[in-house]
Amino acid sequence: MPGILFMVVPCYNEEAVLPETTHRLREKFSALIQQELISPQSRIVYVDDGSKDKTWEIICDTHRQDRLFRGVKLSRNRGHQNALLAGLMTVYSEADAVISMDADLQDDINAIDEMVKKFNEGADIVYGVRSKRETDTFFKRATAEGFYKVMHALGAKVVYNHADFRLMSRRALAALSEYGEINLFLRGMVTLIGYKTDIVYYERSERFAGESKYPLKKMLSFAWDGITSFSVKPLQIITALGMVVCFLSVIGLIYCLVSWICGSVVPGWTSMTMIVLLLGGVQLLSLGIIGEYIGKIYGEVKHRPRYLVETYLNDEEK
Ligand code: UDP
Ligand code: MG
Repeated sequence: MPGILFMVVPCYNEEAVLPETTHRLREKFSALIQQELISPQSRIVYVDDGSKDKTWEIICDTHRQDRLFRGVKLSRNRGHQNALLAGLMTVYSEADAVISMDADLQDDINAIDEMVKKFNEGADIVYGVRSKRETDTFFKRATAEGFYKVMHALGAKVVYNHADFRLMSRRALAALSEYGEINLFLRGMVTLIGYKTDIVYYERSERFAGESKYPLKKMLSFAWDGITSFSVKPLQIITALGMVVCFLSVIGLIYCLVSWICGSVVPGWTSMTMIVLLLGGVQLLSLGIIGEYIGKIYGEVKHRPRYLVETYLNDEEK
């Protein structure tokens, strides 16, 4: 029996591309169903992330004409990551596997075949990874690559050049549903799940139509979320800085005392400088230590699952 494949596509003001996306996805799904690679119960689900244009009307029409398509409407614009999660969580219990993809056709839909193949070979998560970034502007490429490097340096494991084009099995999504965090950075969370993973390479093309919905401001806040949700390194840097300043102020103190003993200073300078130096170092160090605890609390309040059971050997399995 071929598996049921669902596709989740977040859309924000995408009226310009949706008809074409619908056309291409319909062809792709028909072919896959015909080749008996996926079940005829497979569906494509558009998530309308509070669009202000005709996106939702288009989704409604598409659904009316073709039951292959479904729609989820969010109460307001919640951003790409939240929209994606909303779609995944709404549908995963009906599917064997779910692929997430952007609406703008930048991701190559021909990679879907290979994702399904890898899923059938036993992979729970299949990452779509861009082989090249030639179609992106120099600015986008430089900022995106810099971002992956910073994330790596800070110890967060993200798959290099992987956006949110990926297949996840139902159990991988069930695992994802256990992550209760508010600051979503899905591509980082998915790597925490484990299970068998695989990679499919594809070439990223240009946006089919419309404008990028990720202006610099959103991109920066997304990158910041990624760093602060996956690393307490910035807090540790404060502690380290505090230690360095404390050490330097001890040297400064010795210098002050020596100058005072030698008698070559203006009265009052020594005590003033000593106080400033000491307090500066101690304050920074204390801030860092408080930061460490905030870091721990932060980790706790996320209520991430402490472990996930992969295999369950019980009496029925003989
Ligand atoms: N998107 C969304 N909500 C937003 C912003 C974007 O659902 O607030 C969707 C958008 O419709 C698209 C995907 O997220 O399907 C990626 O956005 P975009 O292509 O504009 O980003 P870029 O490829 O330029 O990084
Ligand atoms: Mg795009």
